[in-house]
Amino acid sequence: MKQDNCIFCKIISGEIPSHTIYEDEKFKIILDVAPATRGHALILPKSHYANLYELPEEMASDVIKLAKKMMVKMTDKLNCDGFNVIQNNGEVAGQTVFHFHMHLIPRYKDDGEILKYIAGSPSGEQLEQIRKIIAE
Ligand code: AMP
Ligand code: ZN
Repeated sequence: MKQDNCIFCKIISGEIPSHTIYEDEKFKIILDVAPATRGHALILPKSHYANLYELPEEMASDVIKLAKKMMVKMTDKLNCDGFNVIQNNGEVAGQTVFHFHMHLIPRYKDDGEILKYIAGSPSGEQLEQIRKIIAE
């Protein structure tokens, strides 16, 4: 359940130090070393799964419940004005550490952080083509 050369497995085993803000038998939540904003944290399962594709369903439901609980707590403690919950899968999607993690990013009015995608403008026909591919 631990993968050699995985930085987050090493954090979980204590081989590499981290700033832990929460821990239970399944998860550890640490502060990100290169935070987007004050309090940016990462939820890490204690077992190694590369991404959401690999994460067992039960863990996936546990992680979203934990994200909600921590988001409420962090909003109270940090007095932030909003929150981004982000989770990247695969290099092309911006994943750089291949041990599943969920970003908890407190947002503050005027924090200057930009976490946006470029909005497209597909035609109704194009949207319908995609809908058919996915839904049918
Ligand atoms: P992602 O790009 O979604 O894979 O996110 C990986 C995150 O892990 C980045 O935000 C990094 O700043 C963070 N990170 C990398 N190494 C460490 C570390 N040793 N301790 C805490 N956070 C880390
Ligand atoms: Zn790992």
